[in-house]
Amino acid sequence: MDTTIYFDYHATTPCDPRVVEAMLPYFTQEFGNPSSGLHRLGRRAARAVETAREQVAALIGATPEEIVFTSGATESNNLVIHGLAHQRSERRRIVTTAIEHKAVLEPCRALEAQGFDVVILPVGHDGTVNLPAAEEAITDDTLLVSVQLASNEIGTIQPLRAIAELARQRGALVHTDAAQAVGKIRVDIDALGVDFLSISGHKLYGPKGIGALFVRSGLRRRLVPLVQGGGHEGGLRPGTLNVPGIVGLGEACAVCAVEMHDEAMRVASLRDQLETRLSAAIPGLQINGNLGNRLPGNSSLTFPAVEADALIAHLPGFALSTGSACTSGAVEPSHVLTAIGLSREAADATIRIGLGRFTTSEEIDAAARVIPEAWMRLALAAS
Ligand SMILES: *Cc1c(COP(=O)(O)O)cnc(C)c1O
Repeated sequence: MDTTIYFDYHATTPCDPRVVEAMLPYFTQEFGNPSSGLHRLGRRAARAVETAREQVAALIGATPEEIVFTSGATESNNLVIHGLAHQRSERRRIVTTAIEHKAVLEPCRALEAQGFDVVILPVGHDGTVNLPAAEEAITDDTLLVSVQLASNEIGTIQPLRAIAELARQRGALVHTDAAQAVGKIRVDIDALGVDFLSISGHKLYGPKGIGALFVRSGLRRRLVPLVQGGGHEGGLRPGTLNVPGIVGLGEACAVCAVEMHDEAMRVASLRDQLETRLSAAIPGLQINGNLGNRLPGNSSLTFPAVEADALIAHLPGFALSTGSACTSGAVEPSHVLTAIGLSREAADATIRIGLGRFTTSEEIDAAARVIPEAWMRLALAAS
């Protein structure tokens, strides 16, 4: 039994046991292909997929017809960005932000190389998109505005409704990468005013390799599929459906719909206790992000006088992260921490703590005791 205290819920979450339970029959007894409508096994698999589609839709206030199953948020983001751009349009501008996940920034850069006019919006110190800059950037020539709902590094939640309103005035479409937000905070596609929204299964206690894209009704034909090969998912995502994964994603969404509110309060309270205790023990500790409007389980901390890598090496009992998991290993500081104005030194001294469903108050007690000890040892050695 691994006794690691898991503080990396932004990188991935464990599957909820209820999700695993719901998935299991679909590997063995209920293994039919949902496209095989001529026998019961196929029809039962198809029904399970449609139940999951309803569960995913319900969590974000969509209709089941507006949900396309994909392999995850990376694919969902690519399907929107490339899919829209490859449909003939007069509009040549794409507006996004400096703190997006690579799964948004990279496809945007690829389109820039193909001649699209890509505008990257700046963010303030707390990671919030600058609205006047957005207003200026979103022109009548804008095809798509893609702004994440919540940051995987600093947790900041964006004023998406205001951004979507600016886009609507100019006739631009709006996408949000909501991989970190769905299942953690209330997400309603109509309240947000978005046209497309990306979901990832393994960020909300579902399995890896499954996700969804919300496509507002009437907009399907605006997207060119990334792959060809069949009529699945209305032709937008051909290939035999990942039935166990889809069932797992549906169950994960159903659990979140019921438990999200209480869970967010419990997790935010643990996070606040931890930050209070660490701040008291570590003079000069800096908390990043929008403290009034961030994900309940996020704590991005910049430590004085030590490097994050060294501190993590001195905390072997904890699963922690420096930048986002996708970029760690690279020597460059996180583009998100740079975008909120952190110096290279400050970015290199920043640790991301991610709390979630299975975090306990005993784990918070251990962290509040052990992290300051490790910091103190390193800071003394450095001085
Ligand atoms: C994890 C994550 C992704 C990638 O999702 P996958 O399902 O792993 O492809 C994209 N965007 C954000 C904000 C994420 O946190």
